[in-house]
Formats: sequence, C-alpha cells, structure tokens
Amino acid sequence: MTPLSVHLQFNRDCLQGAFLPAKRGATPPEPRGHWLIVQNQGLIVVPDGVRFRLPDGELPAGFEGKLERPLWLGTYGGTPCWVAALAKDAPLPPGFHRETLIPMQGTRLPDDLLSLGGMAMQALHWEKTSGHCPRCGERTERIEGEWGKRCAGCQYEHYPHLHPAVIILVLDGDRCLLTRKPVWAPGRYSLVAGFVDNGESLEGAVAREVKEEVGVDVKDIQYVGSQNWPFPSQLMVGFVAAYAGGEVAIDREELEDARWFSRDDLPDGPSRHSIARFILDTHARR
Ligand SMILES: [Zn+2]
Repeated sequence: MTPLSVHLQFNRDCLQGAFLPAKRGATPPEPRGHWLIVQNQGLIVVPDGVRFRLPDGELPAGFEGKLERPLWLGTYGGTPCWVAALAKDAPLPPGFHRETLIPMQGTRLPDDLLSLGGMAMQALHWEKTSGHCPRCGERTERIEGEWGKRCAGCQYEHYPHLHPAVIILVLDGDRCLLTRKPVWAPGRYSLVAGFVDNGESLEGAVAREVKEEVGVDVKDIQYVGSQNWPFPSQLMVGFVAAYAGGEVAIDREELEDARWFSRDDLPDGPSRHSIARFILDTHARR
C-alpha cells in the first residue's frame, strides 16, 4: 500500500487523534500541563535516556520571569499544552536542552514532538505578527477562546494566515527533473516549489511555477499529498506532473541548477521529514 502523506511530521495527524485544539470557553484556569517552550526555532526538552520529553506540570523551575504570558494550544492525551517563547539569548536552566525543530538541521525530535512544536511555532508567529490591526493600526485583542484577533478601534477580525504553496515532481519516463538552490548543502537537489498566487488554482500554480523555474511545460498534474510546514506557516501541496515539452531553462534568481536525474540514480536527500522526500520516495525512487 502506498504510504499516506497525512502521517508526515508536522501534520497534526501524526498525533493520531490525541491532540484536541483549544476551544472557546474551555481554557484551563491556570498554566499547568505540557510545556512547549520555543527558542530560535528549537524546542526546549528534557533529555530522558536516549529520548526527549516535554517539561510537565507547573511552569518549569528556572523559567520564572523569562517567558511571555503562555498561550493555551489545546490538549494532548488529555493534558493541556502551553506555548511560550524564550528570548533568543536567554540561557537555559540546568537539566534542559534545546533541540532544533528544523528538519534540514537534523532534528532528533520524535514525530509527536515535532508536530506539537510546529504548532507552537505557528501560534507564536501569529501572536508576534497580529498585535496591531492591518486595516487601521490600532491594537488588537484576542477573541475569547480563539486564535482570532479583533481590532479595538475598527472591530476588524482577522485569523491566522496559512500560505498555500505547491511542490512538484516532474517526471518523464525513467527520469525526473530536480532543482538546486544556492543556499542548500552541497549536492542537495529537490523539487520545484512556489507559492500560489491570487486567482490561481493549485494546478495553475503547478504549471506556472514549473515553467518559471525550469522552463518546461507539464501535463497530467496529479495531487499526491500535503504537509503543514511551520517555517513560518506554509501548507505544502504536493503533485506529480508529466513532462510535456520544452528545454530546461533555469530561473537564475531562484536556482543554481536544475537537471534531469535517472530514477535509478537520484541524489541524496532532501530531509526525510519533508514532503519533497515523501514524493520522491513514493513516485520516483526505485
Ligand atoms: Zn482596526
């Protein structure tokens, strides 16, 4: 059976129904439970043998006065989850460890902590960027029990932004077209990807991104899965598409290289946590 993308890390499905998001009128009276403390795109954890666990219970010792007001994210396994940011340069109290949430940096977090940590990062990103009304500039206030914000001046309500992006494997028989950005680790290649524009369908975005980035036309565009990607708030929508003609011509503002690879001889990577890797493993690699 073909594996499903819903079980990719950062998708809430990884938590197998054990996570229930925060709901109106159900906020616990005091911050106590699992702590999702984020610093520099890393999650603060407690080393526990060869594994990591979240700090639990009351506010963990040593963090007093160092965190902003904690946000209630929801419950995991019936236990309330609290999100808080730790300042970039704040030293960690003894007994804690910061493990990166970034897959490309080789995170060692297990799937459930990556998915919870990803939601925590998105919640904090939203808090940081939603303090003022985008329409009139007044301060906003939390709509009780929701992530939405209401402007104290003009009453405008706005909600967390999720940005849809498409990611595409272009196939042509025994070969597939991969791209490389200059900032990536040496030798790393991945798929064409880009944000969906105003007025575009997902399929329209696929055809445009492929044409813009690598110069070729595609047909038979098929959806293969999706992944929530909290850097800072993308929804990656994965496709395969068949090559339909044209010479490879690279958009040098975006890419360093793009080339056809034999499906028997694909380069290493990308990270096993990414939908790019999922698509390559399920639709190209043999
Ligand atoms: Zn306003």
